[in-house]
Amino acid sequence: MQLLTEIARVRQLVNENRRRGKSIGFVPTMGYLHDGHLELMRQARQQCDVVIISIFVNPLQFGPSEDFNRYPRDLERDLKLAATVPVDAVFHPQAAEMYPPGFSTHVDVAGLTGCLCGRSRPGHFRGVATVVTKLFNIVQPDRAYFGQKDAQQVLVIRRLVEDLNLPLEIVTVPTVREADGLAMSSRNVYLSPQERAAAPVIYQSLLAAREAVRQGEKNVARLAEMVQRQISSAPGARIDYCEIRSLPHLEEITHLAGPALLAVAVRFGQTRLIDNIVLEG
Ligand code: AMP
Repeated sequence: MQLLTEIARVRQLVNENRRRGKSIGFVPTMGYLHDGHLELMRQARQQCDVVIISIFVNPLQFGPSEDFNRYPRDLERDLKLAATVPVDAVFHPQAAEMYPPGFSTHVDVAGLTGCLCGRSRPGHFRGVATVVTKLFNIVQPDRAYFGQKDAQQVLVIRRLVEDLNLPLEIVTVPTVREADGLAMSSRNVYLSPQERAAAPVIYQSLLAAREAVRQGEKNVARLAEMVQRQISSAPGARIDYCEIRSLPHLEEITHLAGPALLAVAVRFGQTRLIDNIVLEG
């Protein structure tokens, strides 16, 4: 497994493999890897000849009051985990390699980014869309793998790939969860033992909503209120947003009539967790 820190070295590796007719799978991450990340890599391993991952905590997608500085980082551990998949190369650039002085071009995906995490985290998806576009141009993958855990992110990236005619396929991988249902996240390490014990309420409330739909509830306001009530009852939980929106355009809806995304963001202390579930209307 190669560790590459320079864009030119990645291009070299990609060119060699392209010349030999090899397909390339790509998994972008911010590191502090867990089984959710590894599942993306395993799928890439099964479907592509060469697997490249990136580990880059992208400053552009963090707001000024967010957790960029304290975001967990452990490259040694990440390299060991990636080697178990195994992956062929890890691209781990410094911020200056990605954003040299004078950098001034950004990618904005309108519409989809005005709600949910886009509303709570202004500029977040601009940072994501910009870095992902750059990474796609550097790695030139045939397929790139993203987690359903970040449902709005996948929709934004699918949109930008279509709008900018990028020649690759986006593969969405289902959310990987802890045994008690908590969605795996690098940020789970921030949780105190009490917060960690309470956090599974998030997924429990999503499952309860799905069950209510199964029993015939179609009213979006009632479903959202049910979820909010259940989450708010957990000690220390503060809801950032809890919304049900249409798929794939994330439009406001009042009644379920087709697939919809139930998405939540919940704070426990300083830690902001997100999760979602698709409701079949
Ligand atoms: P991150 O390092 O948080 O930027 O995540 C990198 C990729 O892993 C993104 O496509 C995420 O959606 C995906 N991912 C993160 N957590 C999970 C999870 N629990 N299950 C599946 N995919 C995940």
